[in-house]
Amino acid sequence: MVASIKPHRDEIGLSDGLMLIDGEWRPAQSGETWSHIHPATGEEVASFPIAGPVDVDSAVRAARRAFDEGPWPRARANERIRVLRRIADLVREHGDELLALQALDNSVPLSFGTIYATSSAFVADVFDHHAGWVDKLAGETLPPYQGGDHMVFTLREPVGVVGAVIPWNAPLLLFAQKVAPALAVGCTIVVKPSEYGTFAVLRLARLIEEAGLPPGVLNIVTGPGEPTGDALISHPMVNKLSFTGSRAVGRKIIAASADGFKRVSLELGGKSPAIVFADADVSSAAAITMGTVTLGLSGQVCLAQTRALVHRDVADDFLGMAEIIGGMVSYGNPFDPAVTASPLINTRQMDRVLGLIAQGQADGARLVCGGTRSEGDLAAGNFVAPTLFTDVSNDMSIAREEIFGPVLSVIPFADEEEAVRIANDTEYGLAATVWTSDIKRAMRMTKAIRAGTIGINGYQLEPHAAFGGYQQSGLGREGGRAAVESYTEIKTVLLPITDEMM
Ligand code: NAP
Ligand code: MG
Repeated sequence: MVASIKPHRDEIGLSDGLMLIDGEWRPAQSGETWSHIHPATGEEVASFPIAGPVDVDSAVRAARRAFDEGPWPRARANERIRVLRRIADLVREHGDELLALQALDNSVPLSFGTIYATSSAFVADVFDHHAGWVDKLAGETLPPYQGGDHMVFTLREPVGVVGAVIPWNAPLLLFAQKVAPALAVGCTIVVKPSEYGTFAVLRLARLIEEAGLPPGVLNIVTGPGEPTGDALISHPMVNKLSFTGSRAVGRKIIAASADGFKRVSLELGGKSPAIVFADADVSSAAAITMGTVTLGLSGQVCLAQTRALVHRDVADDFLGMAEIIGGMVSYGNPFDPAVTASPLINTRQMDRVLGLIAQGQADGARLVCGGTRSEGDLAAGNFVAPTLFTDVSNDMSIAREEIFGPVLSVIPFADEEEAVRIANDTEYGLAATVWTSDIKRAMRMTKAIRAGTIGINGYQLEPHAAFGGYQQSGLGREGGRAAVESYTEIKTVLLPITDEMM
């Protein structure tokens, strides 16, 4: 049996949650609550309110008032910088507690929090990075066509009330990537976390309150996509929707934006390739690629490298090492330091992953290892054994669908041209890695592949680098200037100096 998570819950002092609306911690008006089931043990963790349309309306109206009349959009730059830096410091101080809450949410193992991209330090750095934008985002002064003393310049103004909807796999990081730029430019915001990633977000919201953010600027409405998310994205007082999640919900966001022409940013999924040439360090390529699909979140990561395109000459070496890594994965209670990977988030997701694995076998791919639900001691959780397929062709569903589980598909290729063709034969375009010792080839591949992030012999995320997708992997970017600008409108100011009209 996986040890109970309840002692950890009690140690943290997690009680039945309330949500944050207009500076007050409240239950839902209906009194309805959602009870969270832990994915590793099947135990009930705790509950939190299900915000209905009335609660969401209060939250949006609070954000609207805070934007139209409140101090935050009008604050001095150094005041906004001070609050964002204080948030970063509080996240660092409470880093372990936040990661523990995340483990109560989605069972991501604490051992994974030592890796920069999944640590509290990264979340803190996102706030620090955006604090730096507060006094640097600027408009432009343009030379006038009409000559003389005409003045033409632009202002960057906050877009207004932001409605953010985030998923459960990295609730702290994905919250920070939306809230930090929105706050930096002076927006107000209503966040709906996933009901599978709520506890860590609620704690982070309390820290943000403690950092001195005025009431109503940040509001959290908890509950599922229906009714909570739906009420937020369709609310007419929201100016911008910022979403991370699946393509299916992404389409609903676009549809909901049509009414009032809300601004939209989307971070969607991927089917990212790792392209491994014969001159690469094949062992590292195999270890890291299999690792991105199995360790930590068990492949429930948007930029997991789920298609390994491997040169025929080194395919056996690659498979050998990938299988070893798969065999080293250790499942169980996320608070156990020996545990290295999570279960799948819920039984629906587990059934979907097992269905796609069965489809891969039916399509003729060869299963090297895994492929089944883990039973015995692990039977109470949603664990699927690390799974490796070879002899995959790129038209099989395991090569086309985002599986969001611990499944790597190995696709052999003969030359660079074929590798590029297979890599780009996808509806997605989030990321890719290129494994080679030839820098010229690495650069040719970087230019040829249509994806938002390219890693060369590995990848490490950075809080200030643009992140996002080509094609159906999204719309817009998070991190860096493009992300900050996406929370603003441009206002052009014309100041004719002569009396001539127009
Ligand atoms: P999801 O089902 O799309 O859910 C994302 C969020 O949308 C959740 O908060 C969800 O609430 C909410 N939602 C669902 N239906 C809604 C509706 N009708 N109106 C408004 N909101 C609604 O995605 P997920 O299963 O949580 O996460 C997996 C997906 O996210 C994958 O496709 C993955 O690639 C993508 N992802 C992308 C990135 C990135 O940065 N590109 C990062 C992480 C994940 P519920 O929880 O109630 O459904
Ligand atoms: Mg969902």
